[in-house]
Amino acid sequence: MRFLLLVCLLLGCGSSVALDRSRVEGYLLPNGLQVLLKPGYERDHVSIRLVVGIGFDDFPCDQQELPHLLEHLLFSGIDDSGEGGLEERMQALGGEWNAYTSSADTTFVIEAPARNQRKVLDLLLAVLNDTQFDQDDLDNAKRIVEREDGGHYTRLQRWLDRQDLGHGASDQLAVELGLKCAERSPVQDMTLAQVNALREHWYASNNMTLIIVGGLDKLLPAYLERSYGELEPVAPGERRVLDGVSHEAEHQRVLTRGWLGNSARLHWLFLEPVLDDKHEQTYDLLQRYLDWALYRELRLKEGLSYGPWSGRESFGDSGLLSLNADLDRNRVEDAQQAMGALIERLRKDGLEPVAFERIRQAAIDREAWTSQGNSALADYYWGALNSYADGRFDDPARRLRQVSLEDANQALRQLFAEPGYVRVERPLLGYDELVGLIALGVGVLLALGLAWKRRRGS
Ligand SMILES: [Zn+2]
Repeated sequence: MRFLLLVCLLLGCGSSVALDRSRVEGYLLPNGLQVLLKPGYERDHVSIRLVVGIGFDDFPCDQQELPHLLEHLLFSGIDDSGEGGLEERMQALGGEWNAYTSSADTTFVIEAPARNQRKVLDLLLAVLNDTQFDQDDLDNAKRIVEREDGGHYTRLQRWLDRQDLGHGASDQLAVELGLKCAERSPVQDMTLAQVNALREHWYASNNMTLIIVGGLDKLLPAYLERSYGELEPVAPGERRVLDGVSHEAEHQRVLTRGWLGNSARLHWLFLEPVLDDKHEQTYDLLQRYLDWALYRELRLKEGLSYGPWSGRESFGDSGLLSLNADLDRNRVEDAQQAMGALIERLRKDGLEPVAFERIRQAAIDREAWTSQGNSALADYYWGALNSYADGRFDDPARRLRQVSLEDANQALRQLFAEPGYVRVERPLLGYDELVGLIALGVGVLLALGLAWKRRRGS
């Protein structure tokens, strides 16, 4: 018996059998609300994500902050005790909550003790159904949103944004290409009517997904049908078509950041051509490969940059893949040359098979330990909703295994078929230039003084 128990412990019987991350219990309530339930390792806790399908990108540039405003307004309170009373209720249940608006969705994020899961879900439902807000609440939410965006949008900031001085290199390129709004949308003019219309049209059961991971209550499905099943659906609205590339951008630009300093950043950005198959995984692997290639080339071989890196970001309907390096201001040209040579070599010779296989295998192995714990797993499902169908999420490890060296090389050739966009970020003046300018100024003064003396003497 004891032997059996030992074998069981060693082989991992019972609850410690590996959790199949890609499988969930998923179904639609009759009102269209999508429910995803997953028993997690930590049984005394639940992670809840309520994802509402409305975000910044669903609005034109002058109204983009609308969903963010509503998100804040929904914490105004459900009765006379207001915002504070609402927070007290959540505290009393031992839970914590927050909400986030992104380009694609608005999501309520809750961590709570498993024993109170139904009460916490009740409270969230009350927030959706019973929150009342008025003009004062709206003004208050506007101030908060402005502060989160870095304070009141002054005329100077607006001007700087238009001059492209306020954006990071990739944001700024996205603005040039027409993929991103040139400036923040002004919240001051937004009205209660606009916010209420947004709530009515988009905060509907058939535009929401409820994800719950952790120590699930046995009665949860029946409870959800009784409670969340009462939310009203609406006739589904058309979501706004994402912006595509509509403008030409310059191949190379220098962006001024601050006044004085010897550091600089080099960014080389490429639009990701859409692949027919395995788009995400293929570019993911390419990005990892390029990370390594940059490190080897710019740090180990040339010693130009301590931590060069590659990145992927999406703007509108497009993806940008970037090669980046932190540098000394006077090494920018060398670094650009080295990066150019690397790109050229990859264009010509393709990826090294051994390095590609090593990096691909590391990426596959990584999938076994990322997204550990209820909270990370719930976040993973939230981020991967696009790949969900019939109780299954795409298994990322399996998808990575499907990307062959040939696939990656083909994507690489398409990616580097265009010359890309080079952006150098640096302060207006380096210290050497400052010293040069001071010396020049002193020289001019001396010359003037001499000339003046000579004229008096003559
Ligand atoms: Zn906010």
